[in-house]
Amino acid sequence: MKVAVLTGGVGGARFLRGIAEAVDPAAVTAIVNVGDDLEVLGLSVSPDLDSVLYALAEIADEERGWGRSDETWNALATVESLGAESWFRLGDRDLGLHVVRTRALREGAPLSAVTAKLAAALGVETTILPATDEQLRTWLDTTNGSFSFQEWFVARAHRDPVDRVRCEGATEARPAPGVLEALHEAELILIAPSNPLVSIGPILAVERIRSALERRRVPCVAVSPLIGGLAVKGPAAGMLQRLQGGTTAAHVASCYPGLIDALVMDEADAADADAVSSAGVRPIVTHTLMHDAAARRRLAEAALDAVALA
Ligand code: GDP
Ligand code: CA
Repeated sequence: MKVAVLTGGVGGARFLRGIAEAVDPAAVTAIVNVGDDLEVLGLSVSPDLDSVLYALAEIADEERGWGRSDETWNALATVESLGAESWFRLGDRDLGLHVVRTRALREGAPLSAVTAKLAAALGVETTILPATDEQLRTWLDTTNGSFSFQEWFVARAHRDPVDRVRCEGATEARPAPGVLEALHEAELILIAPSNPLVSIGPILAVERIRSALERRRVPCVAVSPLIGGLAVKGPAAGMLQRLQGGTTAAHVASCYPGLIDALVMDEADAADADAVSSAGVRPIVTHTLMHDAAARRRLAEAALDAVALA
């Protein structure tokens, strides 16, 4: 079965691993957020693409929750001792990849081609596509001013309450080669349990991706990143409270108007199922915490089973 998955970084990457374990990994295409991308010390860094790449290559650091396993930090220690920019943490192994990507981009290769090469080199069979090859940058307008995504998330520890998410460059951005094809050929479209507003939102802000989802002929199933109205990690709950008016499963569904047929939601939120149904979305209630490989696989299978909705 061909599956296309819209995803952000860490939460999405875990889910994607479950999907790639449950079906033929080569039949899966990940369409990944690039709104968090940034330049650090002259290097092009794509945090969500790399989280997906590292997870699928099985070299992600599961305990830290981001970056590569067996990481060391010598380069960053040198950067720090020289008084240069060190707020964005890059490990030595991670840096090696950024050097290679930056060089290829400077030589004119599109991000999608560079990503395909990196994935092949790491033995990843799943297709990993940036949502777009063009510049798309997420900005947050907060009560304390406007910040680029990583400045708000990392440097300011996502403390500033967000009034608005802006995806600069998104409306003009064209989907990367392969994105629309993957959405058209998929028998099932999935939205990973990523932050709906800052991980999935920037992908859907690319007009032709959004309209491909609106015109889908196959089911689209989202997985909620909230459990008991709380995020497993990160700012999703606070953002939903402020921007969508609440943190129930129905509020998660409301981030995807007309775009999803079903929502996989946690047992802890079972009381929200009726409200989700009333919004025209089928609730699929199950355990959604991916605490180990078996749980990840079960969640993937619950989402894949929704293909029967067709
Ligand atoms: P980021 O780009 O690295 O911030 O990652 P994502 O946006 O893809 O994922 C962050 C979201 O993943 C958070 O809102 C978490 O609540 C959610 N998340 C992380 N682990 C789990 C899990 O095991 N189950 C569910 N349902 N959500 C999770
Ligand atoms: Ca991210």
